Amino acid sequence: MKPTLIIGGGIVGLFTAYYLQKTGVEVAILDRTDLKDNCSTGNAGMITPSHIIPLAAPGMISKGIAWMFSSKSPFYIHPRLDFKLAQWCLLFFKASSATQVSKSMPYLNHLTLFSKALYQEFEAEHPDSAVHLSKKGLMMVYQTEAVEKEEIELAHLAKKYQLEAEVLSTQEMQALEPNLEVKARGAVYFPGDAHLDPGVLYAYLKNYLQAKGVTFYSDTQVNGFVSSEGKISAVLTEQGTIEGSHFVLCGGAWTAELAKKLNFSLPLMGGKGYSFVQPNRPAIQLPTILTERKVAVSPYGDFVRFGGTLEVAGTNERINLNRVRGIFESIRQYYPDFQATFPEEDQIWKGLRPCSPDGLPYIGAAPGHQNVWVGAGHAMLGLTMAPATGRLLAELYHQKNTSLDIQGFEVGRYA
Ligand SMILES: Cc1cc2nc3c(=O)[nH]c(=O)nc-3n(C[C@H](O)[C@H](O)[C@H](O)COP(=O)(O)OP(=O)(O)OC[C@H]3O[C@@H](n4cnc5c(N)ncnc54)[C@H](O)[C@@H]3O)c2cc1C
Repeated sequence: MKPTLIIGGGIVGLFTAYYLQKTGVEVAILDRTDLKDNCSTGNAGMITPSHIIPLAAPGMISKGIAWMFSSKSPFYIHPRLDFKLAQWCLLFFKASSATQVSKSMPYLNHLTLFSKALYQEFEAEHPDSAVHLSKKGLMMVYQTEAVEKEEIELAHLAKKYQLEAEVLSTQEMQALEPNLEVKARGAVYFPGDAHLDPGVLYAYLKNYLQAKGVTFYSDTQVNGFVSSEGKISAVLTEQGTIEGSHFVLCGGAWTAELAKKLNFSLPLMGGKGYSFVQPNRPAIQLPTILTERKVAVSPYGDFVRFGGTLEVAGTNERINLNRVRGIFESIRQYYPDFQATFPEEDQIWKGLRPCSPDGLPYIGAAPGHQNVWVGAGHAMLGLTMAPATGRLLAELYHQKNTSLDIQGFEVGRYA
């Protein structure tokens, strides 16, 4: 029997391999890199069922336009003549209606909660791993009245989706963050969110899968597909042709290129973001979002990671120091006592979030192909949603009923 080939060894590819391997499937993972660094290794590590609103939402267009005039803003689309970008922006605009967002929210809600439960199951099944799921919740801190109003509305909405949400005064917020001043009017606290170190998870999962017999082809870029008798039978790489029985496209922001080779359209843009770590002095305790600047703060004891900005960048991976400076400046803006040093360029991590125009991932069968599936397009929530995606894809593989309704994630919705 030929193996199932997973194209792309990010966190979505690894969790897909995990659930396939667990159910007796022979799996191989192919990646164009050395599998040490991708969007899944240096992100903010937050597992956030609280994030029920997709990126494309009412208000985002007007905010986006205002932000486009600042080189340090949290969201940016570099204007350029590019048909794919224009098509993506149009679909993003259409998806930003209140009707579309209210359709998307239950899907995000169910998928993130399912995934969080799977993370808890994973932790229980791997007690000796260094992967630690910290269950301290998430604080959304704000400085302006306008954002306070938005966040409180969001807290009420979250409660309708059975999520716990507490509106905190400055004093209550400060009691949860006792070691340093947080310059904010208040916060919304989501006790049900969690966080972990994404690099530790990634390394553990890769070693675990290798030990379980999953083959890894690193530095192996898939450039094309071979079909025979109406099915895909192999992938073409510079290292040669590799045969498989089934194929799962988990190529992150590059999945659109793979889809094109299989003759279907999968609108995706890379949403470039950055992160860097600092010694945690004075020690920040709680995972936090600095809401006006959309900066994520993830404390891990001795060190803390700051991450943010979303630049709709296609697949361009260049570092724009101005945007990193935007993240850096927000530290002093919210934590005046924190001792931060601007990172050297080689200490700056970058990643391309795979962004679908409507903010929902693509999970399911590839249109027009019997033995190809897709798990991609998770945008800002790929770490959060990876276990659920892997589990759903394994259920589809085994032709079982899926644990969740996956209609909203239909791969062919733009094909
Ligand atoms: C600053 C920042 C902070 C974030 N914080 C969070 C967070 O707190 N919580 C959260 O849930 N998410 C977060 N995210 C989002 C999350 O990191 C991504 O959604 C997730 O990592 C995407 O995983 P992936 O496996 O789909 O893609 P990737 O990790 O990009 O993996 C895709 C892999 O496919 C490979 N590949 C592509 N094309 C080919 C090809 N043709 N042949 C072979 N290999 C190929 C690539 O080399 C890559 O290794 C953050 C992202 C950023 C940038």
